[in-house]
Amino acid sequence: MGKKVLVLGETRDGQLRNVSFEAVAAGKKVAQGGEVIGVLIGESVSMLANELIQYGADRVLAVEDAKLSQYTPDGYSQAFMAVVEQEQPEGIVFGHTALGKDLSPKIAAKLNAGLISDATSVEEEDGAIVFTRPIYSGKAFEKIIVKDRLIFATVRPNNIQSLEKDESRSGDATSVSVSITDLRTVIQDVVRKAAGGVDLSEAKVIVAGGRGVKSDEGFKPLKELAGVLGGAVGASRGACDAGYCDYSMQIGQTGKVVTPDLYIACGISGAIQHLAGMSNSKVIVAINKDPDANIFNVADYGIVGDLFEVVPMLSEEIKKL
Ligand code: FAD
Repeated sequence: MGKKVLVLGETRDGQLRNVSFEAVAAGKKVAQGGEVIGVLIGESVSMLANELIQYGADRVLAVEDAKLSQYTPDGYSQAFMAVVEQEQPEGIVFGHTALGKDLSPKIAAKLNAGLISDATSVEEEDGAIVFTRPIYSGKAFEKIIVKDRLIFATVRPNNIQSLEKDESRSGDATSVSVSITDLRTVIQDVVRKAAGGVDLSEAKVIVAGGRGVKSDEGFKPLKELAGVLGGAVGASRGACDAGYCDYSMQIGQTGKVVTPDLYIACGISGAIQHLAGMSNSKVIVAINKDPDANIFNVADYGIVGDLFEVVPMLSEEIKKL
């Protein structure tokens, strides 16, 4: 019999993040023909319900309150738990984003439930739902079948194919009223480092620079290539530690985990901690002047050469296409 599954519709700047649609697709698998309920939390988020329904949610619940205009663990967990109490779900899916990583353990603990974090696939095998997730910094994958009543998982962005948007579907959010109280954190102001740009964790193309880039100026040709390809710029910890770029750009074990369609590593040696954050990218191109650099062991295409010659050449050639 099908399950009732709650999927958190995560928003940023008033828009649903792509991972929300991927989470709905994962929720559909977990539901096994049951009902997928999108959950929107924020100040005025109910207008996003229709889009969540077009991507496959059966209905949408919205918890709206001025105190939820910014994410806080207390506020969001009170809101989400109110929905859980109302719906008594048998499945919950979040995106494995900064918010999902922060909120999911809190909810799991409240529900005394297990949590499968960072799932890269969800499949049905012989009637059971099987989650795959990386372990040992991506060196191996484990498969998990949950036998508890409640299946709770977070899904890694860019790994699960969202359903085709179906514009013939439509629907409104039903509001769930909750009194948000006793917040231990109140966000006074959000100061953004840089406006715009492509979100690294959801980017389809990433051009990343390492210590080989040699300076913040050295990132210029990488930014240009990323611009030409409509992608984002990332970095190794080596480049961040050297002060060439901001830590928000760090990819790896202690940075962001990314799975773009195309990852271009420039002047990055390929330390295991870096590979942990990008080795699942669909196509990896490495540019390094050292033919023995470890990055070539995970690369689909390798260019042995000076990045300051190769990267501008790539930009010029791609511009001609
Ligand atoms: P290097 O290893 O110095 O490599 C630079 C590369 O650039 C070399 O291969 C060189 O041949 C090449 N190069 C130089 N000049 C050029 C040129 N002109 N053209 C082309 N190629 C050139 N690292 C991460 O990235 N992410 C993490 O999250 C992370 N977490 C860590 C956690 C822990 C607990 C520890 C201990 C380490 C972690 N590290 C992480 C650090 C990691 O071990 C490496 O030190 C780091 O990834 C090295 O960065 P790099 O490849 O840019 O620099």
